[in-house]
Amino acid sequence: MGHMQVNLRARKVIFGLVAAVVVAVGVSVFWVGHDADPSAADTGDPAGVVSFSFDDGQVGHFDNARPALEAAGMRGTFYIISDALSSGKKTMNAEQVKQLAAQGHEIGNHTRDHATLTTLSADEVRAEFADAQAAIKAKTGITPTTCAYPSGAQDQSVQTAAATFFRGCRGTVGGSNARGGVDTYNLRMYYIHSSTTADDIRKVADEAKRTKRWLILAYHGVGPVGSDDDVSADTFAAHVRAVQQTGVAVDTVAGGLAKMVGLTDGS
Ligand SMILES: [Zn+2]
Repeated sequence: MGHMQVNLRARKVIFGLVAAVVVAVGVSVFWVGHDADPSAADTGDPAGVVSFSFDDGQVGHFDNARPALEAAGMRGTFYIISDALSSGKKTMNAEQVKQLAAQGHEIGNHTRDHATLTTLSADEVRAEFADAQAAIKAKTGITPTTCAYPSGAQDQSVQTAAATFFRGCRGTVGGSNARGGVDTYNLRMYYIHSSTTADDIRKVADEAKRTKRWLILAYHGVGPVGSDDDVSADTFAAHVRAVQQTGVAVDTVAGGLAKMVGLTDGS
């Protein structure tokens, strides 16, 4: 009798140990899977990337930035305010936006009216994105897959709303994006000022290439220089040449996301 009880106790101990091992293995498998997917996915493309992004749908992007990019075989990302989509004078009209897309450029969402999203309710933030998506789709046939927050204003609630519409969004926090650590809904960027020289651009583009990081350049005016956020057409062309000279890969923001995070159609 005493022998049987010892045996039973031993079996219970063994069962307990086996159960603990099963749980431990399960947990470690979960964490391995969690780490590997999706932000650290190996896309087999470990090179650095530079993206040219343009805010507010200004007509200078079409008149000046587009030809300089296309002459270099590059494509950019153009963030459109949907309420400003019809004028064609200061801002691009639907035909110009369609032409950009037809040439392989990316069209992104910069909200309906450039509201400061952190001052709005969650419903109002969703409406800013949704209304712009609908208007851009209706006027151009394009459904943007990335956004840029007006003036970079975002918080967790804004990011949560953005995540229901987009694969990623650009903020205005300075820096570049590291493979495996991409802050998908607050992509870091390099802000362009009137004073930004071709040498400045060469330096940061070269660094992206060397460190295999993703650098997103954020432009406003390209053409007439009316504020510290604008560059002349000549300066922009010099920036493009500087990036080209480094030999770093150039892609749109959506393309950069695909390369650095591994998000593609259907994910
Ligand atoms: Zn803007």
